[in-house]
This record gives sequence, structure tokens and C-alpha cells, in this order.
Amino acid sequence: MHSIYEAALRRNAGEPEFHQALHEVLESISPVLREHPEYVEAGILDRIVEPERQIIFRVPWTDDQNRVHVNRGFRVQFNSALGPYKGGLRFHPSVNLSIIKFLGFEQIFKNALTAQGIGGGKGGSDFDPHGRSDAEVMRFCQSFMSELYRHLGEHTDVPAGDIGVGAREVGFLFGQYRKITNRHESGMFTGKGVGWGGAEVRTEATGYGAVFFVDEMLAVSGRAIEGRRAIVSGSGNVATYAIEKIHQLGGTAVTASDSSGYIVDEDGIDLDLLKQIKEVERGRISVYAERKPGSRFVAGGRVWDVPGQIAIPSATQNELNEQDAITLVKNGVEAVAEGANMPSTPGAVRVFQDAGVLFGPGKAANAGGVATSALEMSQNAARQRWSFDDSESRLRAIMSGVHNAAYEAADRYGAPGDYVVGANAAAFVKVADAMLAQGVI
Ligand code: GLU
Repeated sequence: MHSIYEAALRRNAGEPEFHQALHEVLESISPVLREHPEYVEAGILDRIVEPERQIIFRVPWTDDQNRVHVNRGFRVQFNSALGPYKGGLRFHPSVNLSIIKFLGFEQIFKNALTAQGIGGGKGGSDFDPHGRSDAEVMRFCQSFMSELYRHLGEHTDVPAGDIGVGAREVGFLFGQYRKITNRHESGMFTGKGVGWGGAEVRTEATGYGAVFFVDEMLAVSGRAIEGRRAIVSGSGNVATYAIEKIHQLGGTAVTASDSSGYIVDEDGIDLDLLKQIKEVERGRISVYAERKPGSRFVAGGRVWDVPGQIAIPSATQNELNEQDAITLVKNGVEAVAEGANMPSTPGAVRVFQDAGVLFGPGKAANAGGVATSALEMSQNAARQRWSFDDSESRLRAIMSGVHNAAYEAADRYGAPGDYVVGANAAAFVKVADAMLAQGVI
């Protein structure tokens, strides 16, 4: 296994995020490989670390002053052993091949854990939607889809949103696909508006799911969310609905953040106000403190300095480091669930686990988003619409299944209570069995 990791490092030089994601999975699955030499013989590891297909393309577009811009588009179709490639698109200036490969690799295992029959992929662009007009965003999305459409399809590859790709972008991307292909192929994209093929609860699903995961972890030792304080980072889709569900379950989420700093509201974050500022006005989070008496804004700083028993990092990769973890532990954190993908550094994860803090890695804790995307695909295929309550109870059951699969695999492979080992092992076995059965392809 070490030689596979070394070879992957050489072959994917200069891709630190991808290396980090690889290392975590490979480290977790050694007990699995000891029991299953047939995986090694069939070259499962050599194959699983290599994407099935990687697409990189030019995305030219013109701004409102008619100036030409060129961005880079990506789609990494990582693994389709369990179903069509499935995973979001991220539009953010930091996007490069390393980021997309780490996200795509994580997605394989996350999607396997949902048990919904979806493979793993991810895509995006280094385009920055911030400060761009709706018309500029539309032209960018149209140019992006003019190339990507040929690689997509409801049975082939089904994108969705991620950082920088929300309702507005999904609309433009879906519209352009429909125009080029002359097909109203609802199931080729998820996260659509509920009036035109989107699923109830998809918007809320990642945040709700992360909180359900916390609830499941706490319940093992007879604890609950009620009466506990939660520290949430981010102020996008995941953070917003994590805060909402924390409140519904009787906890208090007291923080939110963006790249300029964080806010603390001891009464619990006022979601209507947060949504107004971030979704409608697309403004900075400091505006919250200007409008809500008693709350405060901290410029820059570390949101993890705020004490609480639950932490839900929901902003971006590597946002919570070892020092932050030490602070959280000192302040009495009991459970951490990753709403974002790989928000905790490896050092932070070690600190949590050594201190006996319940730690739900992203590929398990934030799987509710993509799981509900799979429910959207089912509804599209059957031309059905399920109610909000029905969809939420399906999400709840799926998160319970994800939790139990990780919990049981951790026990089975000699690492009780370690959800990192459990999630990676349970997911890997699923994908590896499918790859084994389907031959060397
Ligand atoms: N971007 C989300 C994730 O990281 C959702 C992907 C999807 O719904 O396809 O899982």
C-alpha cells in the first residue's frame, strides 16, 4: 500500500489536497486489505486512485464591458462502479486539478456510503462569481456548459452545486444543456428549482444531514443535541441549514462566518437575517452584527475560539487546524461533524480522536446532500414529486444508515468509535466488491 501511495504522489506531483485525501483513505483500509487479499490481487487499489476520465477545458466569456476572460473548466469522472458519476461543480478562484481530484476521490466513498447507486465525480472552475452581475454569471455558465454537456447525461454523469454554484448557477447550466441537446432530461442535474424538477429538501439536505449525523453519534452514549451550543463556520447552504436543524432539535448555534471574519450571537443565529444578507444581498457577514443588537462581528480571527459542545465546520477544506482543535477540546467540545469536505487538517483530526471527541468525517457527515440528489434523480426518473416531510424522513433514515455502516465497520476492523476508519472501510468494501465483480476495466 505504501508503494501505491508513493507511486500516486509521483504521478500526481504538486497536488497536496489530493495527496491528503488519498493518505487518509489508504491509511484507514489496511485492516480491510489484510482480510481481502483478492482486492490487492485484482489491482483494486492501483485502479481506484486513478480517475476513469479527466476533462480539462477552456471557458471563454465576456464581461459587461465586453472584455474577454478565460477560465479553466474541470470534470473528473473518478469512479462509476456503483452508478453514474455523481458530484458537484465548484466555482471558486482556488479551484485547480488537485482540489477537484480530492473532492472527486472523496465523493466515490461518500456516495457509496449513501447506498443510493451513484459513482463519484467532481468538477468546477477557477471562475469567481463574487462581484459579477447575473448576466456575467449567465454567460460564464453557458460557455462552461457548451463544452461540458457532451460528457454529461442522466445515465452518465450528473453534476450538482458546491461552493459558488447555487440555485442561480444551476438554472443557467441546466438551461444551456437543455438548449444544446434539445432534451428536457431532468435527471442530468440535481439541485434544480423545486418548480422545475428539483427535489424538496435538497437545499436543506447537507446541513440537516450533518446535524442528524451529530445526533446519531451523541445518541450512542445517550446524549442529545438539546441544550447544547454549536459552533458553525461558513454562511452558505450547508451552514445555514445546519443552524436551522440545530435550533429545531433544541440546540443553539451561535456562530457563522465568511472569508472576512465571524459573527457571534448568543441568542442563536437569526436565520432570516443571515439568509437576507448572504442569499439576497450577497453581502459581507459583518452586516449581521450591524443589524442585530447584542451580536458581534470579529474581523479575521478563528471562529473555533468560541466555546461550544458541537462543532460543524461548513466552509471549506483545511479551515480547522491542529491549534483550533486544541482550543475546541479545551473548551469542552464533544462532537464534531464535517459539513464541508475535508475541513479538518490531519493534525486536527488526531487531536479530536486522541481526546475522545466524536468525529464525523465529511464523507459520512455531509453525505445527506448527495443522497438527496439521488432521491431527486429517482423522482425525475419516475416523474414523481415527494413531499417535504416524506423526503426529510428518507434523509433521516439514510443518515442513520450512513452512521451505522461507519460505526459497525469501525468495530469490525478493530477501531471502535473511529468514524474515519469506519467510513473509509465500509465505503471501500462496497466499491471494491463492485470493481472486483466487473473485471479489470
Ligand atoms: N457538492 C456536494 C457534495 O460535496 C453535493 C454533490 C451532489 O449533490 O451531487 O457532496
